[in-house]
Amino acid sequence: MTANPPTLRIAERFVSVQGEGILAGVPSSFVRLTGCNLRCSWCDSPESSWRPTGEPQSLDEIVRWCRDGPRHVVVTGGEPLLSPYVGALTKALWDNDHHITVETAGTLDQPDLVCDLMSLSPKLAHSTPAAPASLAQRHERSRWQPDVVLALMRFPWQLKFVVRADADAALRRDVAEIDTMLEALGDPDPQRVLLMPECIDPAALTERYQRISALCCTRGFRLGPRLHITAFGHTPGT
Ligand code: SF4
Repeated sequence: MTANPPTLRIAERFVSVQGEGILAGVPSSFVRLTGCNLRCSWCDSPESSWRPTGEPQSLDEIVRWCRDGPRHVVVTGGEPLLSPYVGALTKALWDNDHHITVETAGTLDQPDLVCDLMSLSPKLAHSTPAAPASLAQRHERSRWQPDVVLALMRFPWQLKFVVRADADAALRRDVAEIDTMLEALGDPDPQRVLLMPECIDPAALTERYQRISALCCTRGFRLGPRLHITAFGHTPGT
């Protein structure tokens, strides 16, 4: 009997420039897996978490599609590390000489992963949804797993925190929480720690960038851009 070829459930795939993190501006193929073990209240890709959509696609077909695109590939979600075949996908992309970024909330690990950049985005308390209670409790239990984050930092890494920057007090509260999290990680290099505004409204970004950049200048963190919001608005496939 022939075994079925490995498949991954894909919400969307597209070519665009990376909008976030230290590789912002780099043309990249995005492979967004559907499904997430968290339920952030402000999730900006609900089609891969709250309302998961997507069809199974074979690993070979995804690799073939990436081969015709940019060298940089971003494996994202949802939570891509939920898929049992994400390690095999990254290995196949690696064998095709791609530069691989894995974007994860840092709550799960897989032993066979490979990547050039592990983009970790642990979620702060403000991400916990108000309801339904069962999901809120699961989210709150799962969202911060320092041992998993530390294990994933075996790869070159960035830490990308989504912060509330609509008011000074909210930003101060989020940064105090980040300080506690960074302490649990052994106070890693702040230049690889990015603070990114929770915001999908291009018109509101400038003020939030200004608030965050003032703080970054005193603390040594980086301002995390959201180029795709500035350029395209909150639009799937960008
Ligand atoms: S971890 Fe990411 S995909 Fe999952 S609910 Fe939070 S923002 Fe959405």
